[in-house]
Amino acid sequence: TEDFLQQTEKLSVIGHLAAGIAHEIRNPLTTIKGFVQLLKGKMEAKYSRVMMQELERIETIVGDLLVLAKPEVVSKETVDLVELMNRTVTLLQSQAILNNVSIEFKPESEEVPIKCEPNKLKQVFINILKNAIEALPNGGDIRVTQSFNRDQSILLSFSDDGNGIPKERLARLGEPFYSTKEKGTGLGLMICDRIIKSHGGSMEIDSVVGKGTTIKVKLPIDSDE
Ligand code: ADP
Ligand code: MG
Repeated sequence: TEDFLQQTEKLSVIGHLAAGIAHEIRNPLTTIKGFVQLLKGKMEAKYSRVMMQELERIETIVGDLLVLAKPEVVSKETVDLVELMNRTVTLLQSQAILNNVSIEFKPESEEVPIKCEPNKLKQVFINILKNAIEALPNGGDIRVTQSFNRDQSILLSFSDDGNGIPKERLARLGEPFYSTKEKGTGLGLMICDRIIKSHGGSMEIDSVVGKGTTIKVKLPIDSDE
């Protein structure tokens, strides 16, 4: 079939196409949302609510697609990874508390300087931690650790004692739109993988059904690429 097209090339063509479409959908979407707001008082509340929720869902997918298509690191600066992680954990604290989930972050070092695009890394941490919270419907613990590899790279490990991922599903995680959640887009992990790769790092997922999931993120200290 199309063996001449490398998988990566294929992905980048699809990425460009998706970004183009996402961009074009955005403007009419904003227009429709505005008019739905206007119509609110003129129709049954439950119908306008459904319309608004569905429009917001389109917005989420379009937003994810746009991020996916533009993961290139633009401007890197040196930041403290420990502080960045602490801020991210704080950001998710209300969602965690609402779900009876505790998030603990234990860095090996008090300060871990890293050259990166902080907002992109923050997005990775948010996606991973949100998945972990969502894997703990009855509450539980999320442990994040930071250590150094022998080759001086940084290792971040995110563990939850949630429901875990069956083997056959684990294999499908890289696929776009593969989600087991009613409101999921199945783009979160793809976005994470892209961003980490664009920082010269890598991502790994270990999961045992009924025991939990560990996501390992490896990042070079001076992530030049
Ligand atoms: P979404 O969260 O929108 O479903 P993601 O790409 O973030 O998309 O995740 C894809 C799927 O991977 C999820 O639907 C879920 O089935 C699985 N998953 C990801 N992280 C975890 C986790 N920590 N525990 C269990 N399942 C997970
Ligand atoms: Mg997710």
